[in-house]
Amino acid sequence: MIPMSFSAILVCFVSVPLVLIAALAFFYNFRSMHRPIREKENIYECTECGHVYAFARSRPMDRCPKCGHLNEAVRT
Ligand SMILES: [Zn+2]
Repeated sequence: MIPMSFSAILVCFVSVPLVLIAALAFFYNFRSMHRPIREKENIYECTECGHVYAFARSRPMDRCPKCGHLNEAVRT
């Protein structure tokens, strides 16, 4: 068995999961950067005037640009 001090074992138990999580974060961040913007858009249909519009923000509700009525996202 390889002799290891307590502090070396502690460093391994902290740094190995940290490096794995950082690698996963970089991977998912890099992947989401190359996703087309259309996929991130929410589509809304106004219940007041029937206007269909899309925003690239992830909000459950957004205002209609024509009449200002709050509408829920039809597709997220
Ligand atoms: Zn409207």
